[in-house]
Formats: sequence, C-alpha cells, structure tokens
Amino acid sequence: QICSPGQEEFYQAAHEVLHSLVPLMEEDNRYDFHNILERLVVPERTIIFRVCWIDDNGKVQTNLGYRVQFNSAIGQYKGGLRFHPTVNLGIIKFLGFEQIFKNALTGLQIGGAKGGSNFDPKGKSDNEIMRFCQAFMSELFKHIGKTRDVPAGDIGVGAREIGYLFGEYKKLTGHFEGVITGKALNWGGSCARKEATGYGTVYFAENILAKYDDALKGKICTVSGSGNVAIYTIEKLYEMEAIPVTCSDSKGTIYHKTGIDVNSLKAIKEINHQSLEAYSQVHPDSIYTPVSHYSEGHHQTWSIPCDIAFPCATQNELNLEDAKILVANGCILVNEGANMPTTPEAVEYLKTNNVLFGPGKAANAGGVATSQLEMSQNASMENWTFDEVDIKLRQIMRNIFDTAYDTSKEFGVEGDLVTGANIAGFRKVADSMIDQGAV
Ligand code: NDP
Repeated sequence: QICSPGQEEFYQAAHEVLHSLVPLMEEDNRYDFHNILERLVVPERTIIFRVCWIDDNGKVQTNLGYRVQFNSAIGQYKGGLRFHPTVNLGIIKFLGFEQIFKNALTGLQIGGAKGGSNFDPKGKSDNEIMRFCQAFMSELFKHIGKTRDVPAGDIGVGAREIGYLFGEYKKLTGHFEGVITGKALNWGGSCARKEATGYGTVYFAENILAKYDDALKGKICTVSGSGNVAIYTIEKLYEMEAIPVTCSDSKGTIYHKTGIDVNSLKAIKEINHQSLEAYSQVHPDSIYTPVSHYSEGHHQTWSIPCDIAFPCATQNELNLEDAKILVANGCILVNEGANMPTTPEAVEYLKTNNVLFGPGKAANAGGVATSQLEMSQNASMENWTFDEVDIKLRQIMRNIFDTAYDTSKEFGVEGDLVTGANIAGFRKVADSMIDQGAV
C-alpha cells in the first residue's frame, strides 16, 4: 500500500537512504520492530490542490499545487516551495524525504516537508507572478502556521515570490507571524538567509578539505546553476581565495577562466532576470556554450578542468559520463549545493576513484538552518546582525560535518559522508518516532 508508481526521483532518494541504513538496521532491531522504514517513506500528509489564476490577457489559467508534510517527529514541518514546470508529486516527495534527514542533521528542531507547483515563473509579468502566488496561498494558508508548517523558497521561489505569498497569508489570516522564511529584512527576514545555502556549502567543503590537511585557497572550482545557491557559492569561494570559473542556467554554460564576475552575475540574474548569454556580452573573454552545443549526454560545466565541482542547479545534473571526465581531469571533491544533483552511478564512480564527496543533504543544509534562525528571531522579536548569523551558520556547518564524519567512523566507513549523514539523520528521527508511539 506504500507503492508510488512513476515517482522515479522519490524512489532514487529513498533507495539511497535505505541502502545506507543497512549497517544500523543490522545492529539495532528496534527500528524493524517499530516498522520505522515503512512509516518513514509514507508522508504524514499529502495535500494536492488546484490553483486558478488570471493571466494578463484576462484568461483563467490552472496549475497544480502541492504540500507534502512528510515527517514531524522532531519539530514542525519545514521545507521550501518550488515553482517549475517539471514539478510533480514524485519531485516534491523526493525533496520532502531528503528534507527530513537534512533538517535532523542541522541539530535544530525542524521536521521535513516540501511543496510547490508546476507553474513556470519564466516569461510571466510581475502581476502574473503576484496573482499566481496569491491564488496558491489562498489554499495553502489552511495547512501552514508558525508552529505547524513553515515554507521557504526553492527553485523559482525567491524574494519576490516570498513577498507575495506572505502578503496573501497575512491578508487571509490577519496574522503577521513567522509563517514563511526568506522574508525581506524590512518585514521579518534574517540577515544572511539569502546567502546561507551557498555560503554553507562552501563552509562544508572547507571542513572536508581541512580533514585532509587541505584548503580552498587557490582551488579552481566549477559551479553549475546561476540562481540563489550558485551565486552565493561563487561569492563565498572568492572570500576563501578559491577561483570559481563557471556558472550555468537551463540554456547554457559560462566558462570564465579568470573567474566569474559575481557582480555581473547578480545583475543579470537577480535584477534583470536574463539568460546567461548576456554575461558573455559583458565579458567577451568568457566562453558561452549553449545547451544545443553540449556533447551528447554531458553537462558542459563538468568538462571544464577543476579541483572542486559544486553542482548547484538541480537534480541529476551530474551523471556517470560527467563523473568520468571530472576524475580524468583530476577533480578531488564534488560538493553538492543542489538537492540530489549527482546520479547514483556517478556517486559510485567518484567514490571508487577516491574523489571526496559532500552529499547535498549535509552540504546544503545551511539554508534551512538559517531559516530556523529566522524563525528564532521572529519568535523572540530580535534582529541579529549579518556577522552573528554568519558565525552561527559556519558553526552549524562544522557540526553537521562532524556529525556525518563521526557517524561514518562509527559504522566502519570513515569519510563516507553519504552513509554518515543518512544514518545520523535517520537515527534522530527514528528514535523520536519510537518515543512518540504509533502515530
Ligand atoms: P534558483 O531558482 O534560484 O536557481 C536555479 C538554477 O538552476 C538556475 O540557474 C536555473 O536555470 C537552473 N536550473 C533549474 N532547473 C534546471 C534544469 N532542469 N536544467 C538546467 N538548469 C536548471 O534555485 P536555487 O538556487 O534556490 O536552488 C538550486 C538547487 O539548490 C535546487 O536543487 C534546490 O532544491 C537546492 N537548494 C536550495 C536551497 C535554497 O535555500 N534556495 C536550500 C537547499 C537546497 P534557469 O534560471 O535557466 O531556470
């Protein structure tokens, strides 16, 4: 009764986690006795709803909205909203499932959820985006609340969308409360939330390298994506004296050998919402490769020689063939900023070729951790400075790394952070489920 036909990404995510739990399950039969695995792969609640909104021509458009409240064993539901035409139940379930363990790894009290819509924000006017967000919230508001479920952004949901969603929630409920994170600073947002996932990913890489007496300084880094996570990964890499040389979007890849100009990138993506082709016009010494020119079966970003690869765009964007090129080019670390960007075959190949690997559920947990810091500030009516939040973020990433590393050691696979992160996240959630009985 728990089968979910056609949900490939969810099966992929579940398989990866369940596979790495084998050593724990063999050691402790309580999890089996309490049927934890079967309970864990079924969301506590799945909400699917119609979203009707009016486009600029006055025509009614219809999309599907989702909120999957996956697990609340350790805290209220927390996880982002994704607006992208590829969104379906399988995608939201994979993201929600990953979120359970990621949130547990942060050491904070937050359960796992995810939501979104197959709405495509690209090419829509501001007014259309606003009307869609209002229509989406007119259903979602019934299921969320500051101690119940607190959404945030993800692909296609940035500062603009969060503003419209929050405005509608406030209008419908009459409550100005911390019901959503990623808010603007003027109305309850936290300093460093926008930067947190990218910065946190770089802090995670810093910890991995330090374990092997290495550092980011001087490392050539390839980054995919050019959204929230990619931009602030690139920004922090410069602060660590590394050299980020690529970025990409759904239409192509930029290779800028002397280093990506992060200010140009912000202007193109955050302000003007343009395609990356515009970057090569501003920087004629960079190379723009459109997707139509990628070699078959490859993502152009991973064919650029690098020391460290940061996949920061979307799921399954780094495959086995890409991994082979990375290994051949001498890459020493793949550190995931996105959720599940590396295919299982690629992860295996990297592992067998001694490439270090930072799994997304640990490496990109800085975003949700800082969302929880935003919730703390909202609850206590405080505003922490950028530096205060950044220091906490860096410490949280250190703790996540230590937890994943120490757990890998405990189970005899020292340095295997996939196994370490999965077991550590699972154990916290599963033990809490046992404590709370069959609910
Ligand atoms: P954004 O929407 O800000 O940026 C996404 C980037 O990825 C864009 O450059 C986009 O290109 C590209 N992209 C998206 N889908 C595809 C696709 N199918 N093929 C090629 N390129 C694609 O999203 P975020 O930066 O917020 O999220 C990126 C990843 O990080 C996601 O996996 C997300 O789940 C994960 N993540 C995000 C967190 C956050 O705090 N924002 C927290 C933790 C994880 P284009 O603009 O052309 O569509």
